Amino acid sequence: MAQPGILERLEILADAAKYDASCASSGTQKRDSRGGRGVGSTEGMGICHAYAPDGRCISLLKLLLTNHCIFDCHYCVNRKSSNVRRAGFTPQEVVDLTLSFYKRNYIEGLFLSSGIVRSSNHTMEQLIEVARTLRETHDFRGYIHLKTIPEADPDLVAQAGLWADRVSINVELPTEAGLLRLAPDKDAGRIEGTMGNLSAAIVDAKDARKHYRKAPRFAPAGQSTQMIVGADGASDAQIVGKASTLYDRFGLRRVYYSAFSPIPDASAVLPLKRPPLLREHRLYQSDWLIRFYGFAPLEVQQATSADGMLPLDIDPKLAWALKFRENFPVDLNRAPREALLRVPGLGTKAVKALLAARRHRTLRLEDVARVTVSLKKLRPFIVTVDWRPTLLTDRSDLRAGLAAPPRQLELFG
Ligand code: SF4
Repeated sequence: MAQPGILERLEILADAAKYDASCASSGTQKRDSRGGRGVGSTEGMGICHAYAPDGRCISLLKLLLTNHCIFDCHYCVNRKSSNVRRAGFTPQEVVDLTLSFYKRNYIEGLFLSSGIVRSSNHTMEQLIEVARTLRETHDFRGYIHLKTIPEADPDLVAQAGLWADRVSINVELPTEAGLLRLAPDKDAGRIEGTMGNLSAAIVDAKDARKHYRKAPRFAPAGQSTQMIVGADGASDAQIVGKASTLYDRFGLRRVYYSAFSPIPDASAVLPLKRPPLLREHRLYQSDWLIRFYGFAPLEVQQATSADGMLPLDIDPKLAWALKFRENFPVDLNRAPREALLRVPGLGTKAVKALLAARRHRTLRLEDVARVTVSLKKLRPFIVTVDWRPTLLTDRSDLRAGLAAPPRQLELFG
């Protein structure tokens, strides 16, 4: 059957890529084309579609090379047995599209993934071909994020890292049993093996560049992964545990959580409803607690209810504080940074500002009001020179007073 025209294929393959949440360009090296060399810049201004975790506004052309696939992952709209419209690009077409959008300043880079055609190795080779052509033939300086293809040879995955800023492989589901049930063609051991190889190559390349400035770069923006939330029965506690193991073992830059969204002609093994979007948000908050607030994974898991789920009506930091009330109130004038970071409603920037301010004066409630949006949320947990709350252990009404109103929860539902 004849392929649809390029614009129609672009529509199909950009739409097919929207289910992958794992693209953000944090941590990339700065490259630019000033001085008349090369094309593009990782720092350019353009139409922005996404914000990287470092606050930079980025826009990526997010595409699948093809949505044909020989695998049959139940949760995926592009699986072999799905009757979705199919399309594909050649590597050269993706190169041309990327350059043409780039030169018009629509994008700052490319996020390229693919269904699997013919074989994992063949598909991986095609993705590499896109990145290699962009870099070698066109001296492309923009951002490239390549998805690695499950089951592809380690040598090919290693080549991807030579051309891409970031590489990623999706762990997909938090438990091996879930992967076996919902993605029977994928192998948890091989996915983690690939992550291990990538991690070693990233460390080696960084080390080599410390000694030889001209040593080749390898995925300088690191690797990331994505976990689908709510397609299997895994609890939040299990997801938090899995994510922290991945961070520890493979030095991942990010774990992305993607709330499962029901797909057309869904397989009967999938839930009929999507989980509340707020669940995804709570998992991101718990991820931040571990990465930036000094919480151990076990502490976040302790904030879950008996069924292992994080509460939806309050954030995980508040849930932890309410469960471990003996740690409060925290004296903002004396407590160390680690204790301040545990106060619900105080972010890292607010803590930094308070630490700086208390070097020059004794903190009052009004100083706290200046660095936070919700003094009401903080009051029960802090002591300042002019404020001391009732003991938290005596406040049975506290949770109800601090929970998000039902209307706000509905907005995320
Ligand atoms: S391998 Fe990827 S594209 Fe193919 S069915 Fe599985 S998730 Fe979808």
